[in-house]
Amino acid sequence: MNSPSTTDLLARRQRALGASYRLFYDEPFAPVRGEGVWLYDQHGTAYLDAYNNVASIGHCHPAVVQAIAEQSAQLNTHTRYLHPAIVDYAEALLSEFPPELNNLAMTCTGSEANDLALRIAQCHSGGTGVLVTRWAYHGVTGALAQLSPSLATGLPTAAHVRLVQAPDNYRGNHFVASVKAALDDFRAHGIQPAALLADSIFSSDGVFSPLAGELAEAARLVRAAGGLYIADEVQPGFGRTGAQRWGFQCSAVVPDLVTLGKPMGNGHPVAGVVGRAALFDGFGRQQRYFNTYGGNPVSCKAAHAVLRVLREENLQANALAVGEVLRQGLLALARRYPVIADVRGQGLFIGVELVQSPQTRAPATALAAAVVNGLRQRQVLISATGPAGNVLKIRPPLVFSATHAALLLERLEATLAALH
Ligand code: PMP
Repeated sequence: MNSPSTTDLLARRQRALGASYRLFYDEPFAPVRGEGVWLYDQHGTAYLDAYNNVASIGHCHPAVVQAIAEQSAQLNTHTRYLHPAIVDYAEALLSEFPPELNNLAMTCTGSEANDLALRIAQCHSGGTGVLVTRWAYHGVTGALAQLSPSLATGLPTAAHVRLVQAPDNYRGNHFVASVKAALDDFRAHGIQPAALLADSIFSSDGVFSPLAGELAEAARLVRAAGGLYIADEVQPGFGRTGAQRWGFQCSAVVPDLVTLGKPMGNGHPVAGVVGRAALFDGFGRQQRYFNTYGGNPVSCKAAHAVLRVLREENLQANALAVGEVLRQGLLALARRYPVIADVRGQGLFIGVELVQSPQTRAPATALAAAVVNGLRQRQVLISATGPAGNVLKIRPPLVFSATHAALLLERLEATLAALH
């Protein structure tokens, strides 16, 4: 039960922020402190965070806190003065990418990164057409809301948008065929494609990993039609998928543009677009780019600290190893609970699809919500995703250990047992 102070805060929040704001969980969770994989409420009760990919190197990591504090005390200003922080960071970040991707533009949010990438794609292609997946989410701007069917109705909201299937290897993978069909449809309607914009882990579609070569084939088709392939790495980037630094690397393809966000600053708002210099040059000849806060020294120091910790603490390898432990445990659970129909994802980005029966494959939407809330009552935080909301989304900070995985599995089993 919520304490009186939580109930009061909830009422004040609803009055002050209005109807667009939503909270997780039937009983809202009110953390007051974070450390590593743990979030603590006002009573000091610890909750295992198996959801937040932003605090990727652990909540309140001291290296990031220190970097922000030191630079804040020294100088914080915009990018029209010469300062080494943004250059040092750009060089360090770009060294993590294939050499063709050799420019960085910095923004404050993943939405701004996607918005800028689209403008670059429009400038390059001379077109407006964009392909996104059926239940995509790409951000909050007006342009991106039109490309984010998961925000509301799930329907395309503009004439220049076509929806393609996510690579769903459980219900049927028609990803490449649907990209081809959408491009044919653009041609039939006289619309020049600007880009395929795809989340490399298809998170809001239900967490899917494209088969080897699928992204490469989709990119080939889009490029042949004059458009660009933009990899949205806001969710899978920075080592989360374990086997690779960037999600798109599961396919032998180098995107034209890559958008970054969430884990980039471990909670500090910093994001960006990485891409081929020729594209940035073409765009830059036509217009200048300036973002008041994007790339400020404090953000760059925070992001640089994240990159260092990612390397020094070997967190990508940890995501691979612990992700595998978690996956094996979930598969074992699936043998005992047939409602668990599919365990998928990569590294520490796992989707667990719940169905009413393995025969009908009807989505178990209510059960997924009950599991998410049941785990919250057992001090473990996850969420659910996908068009039917029946895919458990397990996406912890990358400092998640095998011990944490065991705790999650134990509590998940207790939750499933209680709901049966
Ligand atoms: N792309 C993807 C795949 C996302 O998940 C999000 C955020 N959920 C965004 C873009 C937008 O990022 P931001 O909220 O930082 O604007």
